[in-house]
Amino acid sequence: MSTHQFDVIVVGAGFSGMYLLHLLRGRGLKVRVLERGSDVGGTWYWNRYPGARCDVESMEYSYQFSEELQQDWDWSERYAPQPEILRYAGHVADRFDLRRDIQFETNVSAATYQDDTARWRIETAEGEVYDTKFFIMATGCLSSTNKPQFKGANSFTGPVYHTGSWPHEPVDFTGKRVAVIGTGSSAIQCIPQIAAQAAHLTVFQRTANYAVPARNGALDPELRDAIKANYPEFRAKAKQVRNGLHYPLNDVATMSVSPEERQAEYQFRWDRGGISFAGAFNDLLLSAEANEVAADFVRGKIRETVNDPKVAELLCPKSVIGCKRLCVDIDYFETYNRPNVTLVDISEAPVEEFTPAGVKAHGEVADVDAIVLATGFDAMTGSLLGVDIRGRDGQTLKDKWAAGPCTYLGLSTAGFPNFFMVTGPGSPSVLTNMLPSIEQHVEWISDLLHATLARGAQAVEPEAQAEEAWVEHVNALAGRTLYPTCNSWYLGANVPGKPRVFMPYLGFPTYVAKCDEVARNGYSGFVFS
Ligand code: NAP
Repeated sequence: MSTHQFDVIVVGAGFSGMYLLHLLRGRGLKVRVLERGSDVGGTWYWNRYPGARCDVESMEYSYQFSEELQQDWDWSERYAPQPEILRYAGHVADRFDLRRDIQFETNVSAATYQDDTARWRIETAEGEVYDTKFFIMATGCLSSTNKPQFKGANSFTGPVYHTGSWPHEPVDFTGKRVAVIGTGSSAIQCIPQIAAQAAHLTVFQRTANYAVPARNGALDPELRDAIKANYPEFRAKAKQVRNGLHYPLNDVATMSVSPEERQAEYQFRWDRGGISFAGAFNDLLLSAEANEVAADFVRGKIRETVNDPKVAELLCPKSVIGCKRLCVDIDYFETYNRPNVTLVDISEAPVEEFTPAGVKAHGEVADVDAIVLATGFDAMTGSLLGVDIRGRDGQTLKDKWAAGPCTYLGLSTAGFPNFFMVTGPGSPSVLTNMLPSIEQHVEWISDLLHATLARGAQAVEPEAQAEEAWVEHVNALAGRTLYPTCNSWYLGANVPGKPRVFMPYLGFPTYVAKCDEVARNGYSGFVFS
């Protein structure tokens, strides 16, 4: 078997992998991207469930590294639907001729650092072997599906779908009885669509979730043109905001204004639509009192919307708002007024089992023709640990991270030279607009690779001390907030047995400043050997 030689092997052809390829190839490196899907797009390639769309507004959810590209592309709606985002990814691949260096339908199974040569040996499930100096996992934060092991799972006679690995062929629920398990962002998007098509829909809810209306619609051409006329300025402004988004954050404490002013601010954002609701005041996730007021506003809206008071109460979340990702909906709560929708509360007693006919809870079987698992992802670490990655002296990443992920800047980990992650644990990633975060990471990693080669170094890796300090810093930032108070996937709490560690870094501008400082100081915290 021949071994293919490269300077850089990138795993994943989503937005991270595509930009890495474009940038590193442009810097004269021999790059190959290995991708398990049959085309580009990453998470948008897999999440094809009905209603899938981005909750970041389309004018912000795009690359900005090429002014021609951002001028060239036109979005059709305020929030882009999944097929359009996938078309955009394809457009980028065409425009920069990326596919010639992407190998599709290739599943990386193992990656081993060779101590003697300071190179990585990458193996695929298809039996191929690659030899590379640098190895970059660009596998995304939400790519490894969480499929709970329900008792009797195989006994159900109908199809079982997962929102995160939806079939490529259209799924028609017309005349069918369908069960959806889960009420996170994916469920909140697909439930209204499935309910409109199916004969009956039964939703199994373990935890009620907050959702704010999207107010989606055709993109206003005047707004689009105004943004395009000043795109760099628009992007620069967004980068100064802690989540990297352009929407206005009201830098005022909740309780510092009168109850009337508070209601007016919430109402303004409710009417405006989207996650800017979370920016109504500056202490949503810092003060339990402030949080409760905002939560109560949303609960009031749910009670106003849902006709049956018992159902409304079940749909009213009790936890901290924004602690789990705030969902953005189109007709979600209204859907529970439909006569063909039933809500089953499983907060006290879980799904007992799947039977040949359906889903059993509270001793009763809901007879269905199809089951949709909207049960989320083994987020942030799932895809990284899904590959058998072995660093210096054969240490596995799995062993190193047994008590939770440890990284320096969310991009690298000690003991694993020449290995990088894009949007890894310890980076701002999922708490920001992903596209600008990805671009920042890719450009920063690319500069570090360049610096390593320019020094004639064989390898670069973070110092253990720098990593420990970073992990402490990430935890300390989270510890000052209400984020650790709920069972979110940010904490790994959604996957049984996963270490409970808050994974994302809080604050895009401070993160960027820290990365810039590290680079300016000759990559402080890194060792070149
Ligand atoms: P999620 O937020 O993790 O939601 C999973 C749902 O499944 C939760 O309601 C969870 O209940 C439930 N669940 C998990 N295991 C279960 C079990 N054994 N029995 C019953 N219920 C179970 O996953 P997601 O909805 O796929 O969203 C994940 C993330 O993807 C989002 O937070 C967001 O960042 C991203 N996303 C974004 C968009 C968008 O841009 N609009 C759309 C979809 C997803 P518990 O809450 O009790 O754990």
